[in-house]
Amino acid sequence: MLIWNKAAVCKLLWAISCKKDKLWVKWIDAYYTKGRDITSISCPANSSWALRKIFECSQIIISASGWDRFIKKGSFSIKEMYKHLHGDFVKVPWSRVLCQNLASPRSLFISWLAMHNRLPTRARLTMWGVVDNSSCCLCNTAPETVGHLFFECAWSSQIWTMVLAHLHFQRGPGNFTNELAWIMKSAKKKAAKHQVALMFFAECVYAIWLHRNDHIFNQGSKTVSAAQLFRDIRFKVACRCREEMRKFF
Ligand SMILES: [Zn+2]
Repeated sequence: MLIWNKAAVCKLLWAISCKKDKLWVKWIDAYYTKGRDITSISCPANSSWALRKIFECSQIIISASGWDRFIKKGSFSIKEMYKHLHGDFVKVPWSRVLCQNLASPRSLFISWLAMHNRLPTRARLTMWGVVDNSSCCLCNTAPETVGHLFFECAWSSQIWTMVLAHLHFQRGPGNFTNELAWIMKSAKKKAAKHQVALMFFAECVYAIWLHRNDHIFNQGSKTVSAAQLFRDIRFKVACRCREEMRKFF
């Protein structure tokens, strides 16, 4: 946000530099720049805080050897300036799964934690010496890891199976690594069906995590069947999807 804000301030500097036909630009030109190039003069001592911030950006333009690389179709591009200030970065493979996903922010956050293996599963808590039972509370047949809980566990795999069947995908559920790899491929496709699958993925991870928490902390006070949980997830996805996605509900 700081970098984006600086890039946006650079656009104000550009407006002053190219003497845009705006009242505030004319005012600055009349009182401070007086027809000179703003990047060639220092900030006036009596200028306001806001104007000082604009003047400070002239160093960025000087170090970039002028405006040319930031001008697109005759106008200053904040995006180009942002890319210049940000520098090169590696694009993470899961960005499409989370960034273009219409699922609830909570479900996206829990999915992000799951992708980075940062959820406090029983397997991790056992490793830290917090608990002494690492088995999955939903099936009691395997250690509770992210890979098992989503969607290798017999209970949670039922939900993901229902999702795949609901969207007419001809495949069975795998463990979290396999399903994440599949959903990453799916995220590259623009079709509404794949966008709905993205939403289902995040909402399923979140719902299963909440259900698991309920089992552990409330002794499963809310007895919910896999079919009921699937209906709840489907309702949440349907509430948040766009018009062209409604045909899947
Ligand atoms: Zn299990």
